[in-house]
Amino acid sequence: MDLKEKIGIYEDFPIEGISFKDINSLLLEPKAFKHVIDEMHLVAKALDANIVGIPEARGYIFGTPLAYLLGIGLVPVRKPGKLPGVVVSEEYKLEYGSNIVEIQRDSIKPGDRIILVDDLLATGGTLMAATKLVEKLGGEVSGIIILIELTDLGGRELLKDYFIHSMITYP
Ligand code: 5GP
Repeated sequence: MDLKEKIGIYEDFPIEGISFKDINSLLLEPKAFKHVIDEMHLVAKALDANIVGIPEARGYIFGTPLAYLLGIGLVPVRKPGKLPGVVVSEEYKLEYGSNIVEIQRDSIKPGDRIILVDDLLATGGTLMAATKLVEKLGGEVSGIIILIELTDLGGRELLKDYFIHSMITYP
């Protein structure tokens, strides 16, 4: 199946100079969505994980059915101030300014094996911060699965220590 034709491209969104890849058109097509989840499932089965880590918000869309199919737990990776209880935080740089991601401290224990799932890999900042959160708590990242990879933005190089599977690429 040609998944690329299911992705919408919006130039200059959300700001000038960005060519935004919109997954919502793919989500409207049940066969395309099933194809994506089935491939993610096939790849994930070999990674021997017991948790799927899902960056807010579009990671939830793909990571949740994947955890269901694998029969393993889900750990949300959220923007600051959303999670109750004790959290661990990681700040990462953006072109302008910075972002913070958080997970609940007790959601990951030493020895846990985590697959991180998101819609898109660009600079890799978000997923790199998520790997650091996992590792701070003694977990191991068994792999990263994304739908779309922007190959010219350095994400794969930043995350070179990890297995990465992407399904659609753009320069
Ligand atoms: P990174 O941290 O790798 O630079 O950016 C990846 C994060 O930004 C992902 O969580 C993703 O949801 C979001 N993102 C950045 N650019 C796009 C885009 O063009 N389309 C979509 N759907 N998400 C994007």
